[in-house]
This record gives sequence, structure tokens and C-alpha cells, in this order.
Amino acid sequence: MLPLVNVGHKSLGDYATLVSRGLMNEIQRLAEPLQGKRVAHVSATAFGGGVAEINYTLVPLMADAGLDVEWRIIHGEDEFFNVTKAIHNGLQGAARALTADEQAIFARFNAENAEAFAESDYDYVIIHDPQPVAMIDSFQERRAKWIWRGHIDFSTPNEQVFDVLLPSIRRYDASIFHMREYVPHADLPMAVVWPPAIDPLMPKNMALSPEDAAYIVDQFGIDVERPLLTQVSRFDPWKDPLGVIDAYRQVKRRFPEVQLALVGSMAHDDPEGWDYYKRTTEHADGDPDIYILSNMNNVGAVEVNAFQVHSRALVQKSTKEGFGLTVTEALWKARPMVAGRVGGIVTQIVDGETGWLVDSVEACASACIEILRDPDEARSRALKGKEHVRRHFLTPRLLRDWLVLFNKLAGNDTGGSDIVVV
Ligand code: UDP
Repeated sequence: MLPLVNVGHKSLGDYATLVSRGLMNEIQRLAEPLQGKRVAHVSATAFGGGVAEINYTLVPLMADAGLDVEWRIIHGEDEFFNVTKAIHNGLQGAARALTADEQAIFARFNAENAEAFAESDYDYVIIHDPQPVAMIDSFQERRAKWIWRGHIDFSTPNEQVFDVLLPSIRRYDASIFHMREYVPHADLPMAVVWPPAIDPLMPKNMALSPEDAAYIVDQFGIDVERPLLTQVSRFDPWKDPLGVIDAYRQVKRRFPEVQLALVGSMAHDDPEGWDYYKRTTEHADGDPDIYILSNMNNVGAVEVNAFQVHSRALVQKSTKEGFGLTVTEALWKARPMVAGRVGGIVTQIVDGETGWLVDSVEACASACIEILRDPDEARSRALKGKEHVRRHFLTPRLLRDWLVLFNKLAGNDTGGSDIVVV
């Protein structure tokens, strides 16, 4: 069988003070007809990136709601992950097409993983992202309802790459996208739109005092008396760490004391990460006020939390972004957020109200300068951002959406609870 991820336990009751009572009651009601239903989440990695982040909370909360849930990881090797990274880039718009050899590698690994997966054990199979999307092709007859959850920005995909995946996606009983703009113009049995969410009680997001945050950040050599800008994200061209360095250099001309931290984990399924890490280091060109850190320097969840809490401004200068959980995380901590006007970021940041949306290095730099110049205005925007996150992007809402979908697929009455089906 595909290896299981151990997610531990979580209790929905712990979230009662963070979200509305109405939502908690709705979750209970929706979970009732689903007691004991068997659910499998399948993804490419249990470490690094948004899917892992979401599942460590969603899976145990689904279990606490009474479902019998597992999360399994597919087997992959470099040749497979090189192809899936090319697919990821293609779906986000990169021009490079997939060769016939690459398509064969993709199909072979998916078929092998399908062989190691007992689909008839489940009522619902949830496949995350493109890597395992073609496992469904191996099951001509299916007992479970199959749901595909796409986590990336599909607004302008490379059509050749998308066409390779579409026959598989069409087989799913439902597909879920972060935004309406991502739903392909293809005949899908059911296309659903809902955003992901963050867990406010995880070490990454739980309340951390400014003193504790400064204490942690100080250990990485940062001068905690001087302002810090931070971008937390994988080392990936779409996250534009090089552009962040350029923007920081412009800010530094106005505020010479400013420092920059680029905090990025290395995901197991991201072979490009190391190359881009090197390019980023080269671009920093030995500037002693630029700190490039990753899980290799022991930057784990609490440290990411500390960097987010301590920074004067957080940057997410993406040029493509499925949703941008780092944006949600920063807003939840009421930190001023400067982010690319792309993908799911625009559902989180209302420009000029809950943060700053930017389209260029220059705009990114001026937003940071504005924040450093007027911290009070920055704080008031950030506080609005936090309330926006509380209402829309915390995990109990995401759990609710899943329960509505499960009920719909089972033909149960959802008692007025609904989701966006396009
Ligand atoms: N992340 C992390 N450590 C890092 C870099 C990223 O824990 O060094 C986390 C980050 O906090 C966020 C997730 O990885 O929760 C990234 O999700 P996002 O949606 O921003 O981007 P993705 O990596 O899925 O494209």
C-alpha cells in the first residue's frame, strides 16, 4: 500500500472560540450522515508547500468530525518529479510542452501507484494536485467517489500540458479549484470552487508574543532592532525571490538599516528548488543584510511564525500563485502584506484596504517604503486583513465545504448548506 502520513489528533472543539457558533453547528449537522465513511487523501509529498500544510490540519479534523480518514503519499523518483515539475510549470503557463517520453513516465508512475492503492476500501478518494491525477485511469470501475483538488493557478495554462491531464480530470466525480478563473473550459462532471484555509492553532499560526518572535529571529543573526522584510516561500521562479531582492535594494536606498529574510523550505517533490536557491544566493551577492534561510538551517513552523510576527512587512511577490497560504498566514498575524496582484492573492488582499497589491519591483519597493514610513496606517490595514481571514480562510470553513461536497456526492440533503458549483 502507499505509505500513510501520521497526522496525530485534533479536536474541532478547540476552534470554537475562533469561528462562529453557526459554523460549528453546521459542521456537526453536515457530519452526521457521513459518520464512519472512509476517505483517502492522496498527494505527492507530506513536506513543503501548501498541500502538506493544509492536510496536516484538514485530515485530523475530518477524523474528529467522525469520518475514517487517511492520507497516503505516492511513490516517485527523480525522473517522475522532473516531469511533474514541468507539468506544474506548464499548468501555470510555461511554454515548454511535454515530450512523449515524459508523458510515458508520468503515466507509468501513476499506474504503479494505482496498483499499490486499494480504491475499493474507500467511499471518497481525494487526489491532490497534478502529480497523482492519472491514478484514476487505472480504475475502470470505481467504488469510491473520486475528487480531484487542484491547488495551483490554472488561469493561463499551457494547453498542450493541460490536454495531457484533461482526460484524467474528466473521470473524476468532482474537481475543485481555488478560483472560478481556474476552471477549465472542458466538460467536467462537477467543477467546484472554494479557497483553501490555514489552521490558526498550528505552531505556524498560533499566537506568538513579539518578544518571543524577536528572540527566535535573533538566533538567526538578524538584528532585531532594525526593520526586517521577509518573504516566506519555496525557491521557485513564480515566487520571484530575485525580484524581492531587487525591491529590497530600492527600499535600502531610503532606509539603509533595512534587512531582508528569504525563508524557503525545500519540498521533496521540487527538484528545481536547489537550482533556484543557488540563483537566489548569487543574486544576493554577499549582502550581509540578506538572510537566505530554509529548513536546512532548521527553520521549521515556529521559526516561520516568528519571522512573520517579527517582520515590519511581509512580501509575497509571486508572478503566479494558486492561492498563497503565506499571504493568509501573514494577514492572520495582522502583519502588513505586500503581494503580487495574481491568482488567489487577490481574493485575500483588497488593495489599499487589507494590504498592498503590486505588479512590479518598483511597486513592491514603494509599498514597503510606505509601510516603514507609516507603521500605524500599515497596522490598521493589517488588522482588517486579519478579520477577512477569520471570516473566510480558517480550516473549519474548509472542513465545512468538504462535508457539503461529500453529502452532495452521496445524494444527501445538505439542509441549505451549499458550495459554489460552476
Ligand atoms: N512554508 C514553510 N517554510 C518555508 C516556506 C514555506 O513552512 O520555508 C510554508 C508556508 O508557510 C505555507 C506553505 O509552505 O504554509 C506554502 O504555501 P503557499 O500556498 O504559499 O505556496 P505553495 O508552496 O503551495 O506554492
